[in-house]
Amino acid sequence: MTIRTKIALQFSVIVAALLAVFSIGIYYLSENYRQQEFYNSLRDRAVTTARLLIKEPQIDKQLLKVIDKNTLSTLYPAQVLVFNDSNEVAYYNYEADTIYYSPELLNKIRSQRYIETTFGSNQVVGTMYSDTLNKSYAVLAQAEDVYGKEKLMNIREAMYTGYFSAIILTIILGFVFAGQSLKPISKINEEISHITASSLRKKLDTGNNTDEIAILAVNFNKMLSRLDSSFELQKSFVSNASHELRTPLAAVKSEIQVALQNERTPEEYKTILNSLLNDNQRLIKLTNSLLQLAKSEAQENAVNLRPIRIDEILFSVQDEILHLNPDYKIQIDFEDIPEDINWVTVNGKEALLKTLFTNLIDNACKYSKNQQADVKIKANNQNCLISVSDTGIGIDKEELEKVFEPFYRTKRATSYKGSGIGLSICKRIVDLHQGKLSIKSEVDVGSLFVVVLPHT
Ligand code: ADP
Repeated sequence: MTIRTKIALQFSVIVAALLAVFSIGIYYLSENYRQQEFYNSLRDRAVTTARLLIKEPQIDKQLLKVIDKNTLSTLYPAQVLVFNDSNEVAYYNYEADTIYYSPELLNKIRSQRYIETTFGSNQVVGTMYSDTLNKSYAVLAQAEDVYGKEKLMNIREAMYTGYFSAIILTIILGFVFAGQSLKPISKINEEISHITASSLRKKLDTGNNTDEIAILAVNFNKMLSRLDSSFELQKSFVSNASHELRTPLAAVKSEIQVALQNERTPEEYKTILNSLLNDNQRLIKLTNSLLQLAKSEAQENAVNLRPIRIDEILFSVQDEILHLNPDYKIQIDFEDIPEDINWVTVNGKEALLKTLFTNLIDNACKYSKNQQADVKIKANNQNCLISVSDTGIGIDKEELEKVFEPFYRTKRATSYKGSGIGLSICKRIVDLHQGKLSIKSEVDVGSLFVVVLPHT
C-alpha cells in the first residue's frame, strides 16, 4: 500500500470514528429530549383532564369526552383514565380495556405520586390529583409519540446521509491532500533515480528549504557531496599510488637497461646494485604505507580495542626510531604528572598507535635541521593529550589542511624523502580512536602536532 493511500485511509478512519461518536451522541441526546418532552405533555394532559372532570361541575363525562376528542386529542390521541379512591374507573376517554393498567401500577402511583413508564411503544404517565374535599384521584395518560418519533427518524436519515457523504468527501480530500503533500517526495524519487556514480555532482531541488522534505533533500545533497569527495579522493589516491609506484619501478628498469649496455667492472656493478637496493627500499616503504592505510580503513568497525598506556607506547616508538636513525634526538616528558595513572591509558590498538606516533616523531626529526622531536604528555579528566613539536621547516598556512590528504607533500618538503601518506594514516588512526589531530605551524619556526585521545 502506498503512503498516500495509507495517509488517506487513516485520515478517513479517524474522521469517520469522530463523526460516528458525534452523531450517536447527538441522536442519543435528541431521543432523551423527545421522551422527556412527551412525558411532560402527557402529564399536562392528565392534569388538565382531571381538573376539567373534578373541578368543573358544569362539565360532565360526556361533554368532557366531546371536548377531549375535539380539542385535546387533535394534538395527539392520548388515552386518559381517572380512578377514584377505590381504584374504580371514574372517567375514560377511550374504551377502558384498551388502556394498560393494573392494581400494582395504581398503588405505585399512589405511593410515588408521579411515575413515568412505557408500555409497548406507548409512554405512560401516572399522577395524583386531589379535589376540594381532599379526595385523591389517580390519573393515567398514555400515548405513542408518533410525531416526535417521525421527527427523530428524519434526523437519523439526515445523519446517515450526512455521515456517508462526509466520509466519501474525506476519502477524496485525503487522497488529494496526501498526494499534494507527498508530491515533493515523488519529485525527489524521480531526481534520485537519475543520479549515478558518475553524476554525483548533481543536486536535488531543495524547494522552500524549510519543511521536512526540503531538509531531507538538503541532507541528501550533503551526502552526495561527501560521496563525491570520497570518490574523488579514491580516484586521486589510485592515480597517485600508481604514479608513486611507477616512478621507482621505471628508475629500476632504466638503471638495469643502462647497466646491461656495456661490460662493467665489479665496482660499477656494486654501485648499480646499491642504487637498485635504495629504489627497492623506497618501494617496500611505500607499499608498506599503502598497506597500513588499507588496514586502517578496514578496521573502521574494529571492536577489539584494549587499554594501552600511552607513555609506554611513546617510549617503545622512541627506541625503534633511534635504533634506525641514531642521529635523531627524541625528548619525551610529562607536561603535568597526571592525577590518576588511568588518565594516560587509552582504549586502542597498539600497532596502530605505534604507527601514529612513529609517523609524527619521524616527521618532526626528518623536517628539522637539529633532527629533534619534543614529545609532551598531558592528561585531564577526559582526555590524554600528546604533542609532538619541532623547530624545523614548518608548513605554509594554506597547506596546513592539505597535509592530511594522501600523497600531499608541501613545496618546502620536496627535497626530503617521503611519500606523503604518513599523515593521512595518522588522521585515520586518530579518527578510529575517536580522537582529534590538530596542527599548528609557522614557516622556518617549527610545527606542533597535537593528538587528543579519550582515556579509559
Ligand atoms: P612524508 O612521507 O612526505 O613525510 P607525511 O604524510 O608524513 O608524508 O607528511 C605529509 C607532508 O606534510 C610532508 O610531505 C611535509 O610536507 C609535511 N609535514 C609533515 N610533518 C611535518 C613537519 N613536522 N614539519 C614540516 N612539514 C611537515
